[in-house]
Amino acid sequence: MPESQLKSPLITQYRTCNLCEAMCGLKIELKGHKILSIKGDQQDPFSQAHICPKAVALQDLYQDKDRLTKPVKKTANGWQEISWKEAFKQVGSQIKNIQQQYGRNAVGAILVLVIPGCITAIVW
Ligand code: SF4
Repeated sequence: MPESQLKSPLITQYRTCNLCEAMCGLKIELKGHKILSIKGDQQDPFSQAHICPKAVALQDLYQDKDRLTKPVKKTANGWQEISWKEAFKQVGSQIKNIQQQYGRNAVGAILVLVIPGCITAIVW
């Protein structure tokens, strides 16, 4: 753990696991941005401290060095990072263009769980 994180106070955050519809309560202990533990929240009225191994694995997803945290755009020179503002502007503009050309029902959307922890919006 980097020295700067050693000096950070130990904090506890309570969150809801977003990996499936059970939405179990989580108790997460952190120092800086480093997750020290993920356990079930004993005060959660539904899950009552029970979680499955996938919730514990959220730590690996969170700290994965390859995890995307900003939008990227495919260009002739490869993937380039863009701002959220630019990403929403471009997607909105393209949806509007498709609807103007092919009609309002030419675009649909669905939210799916492709892999655990990765809820993806598919627009067609
Ligand atoms: S802890 Fe497991 S069962 Fe509970 S919401 Fe997360 S993935 Fe679902």
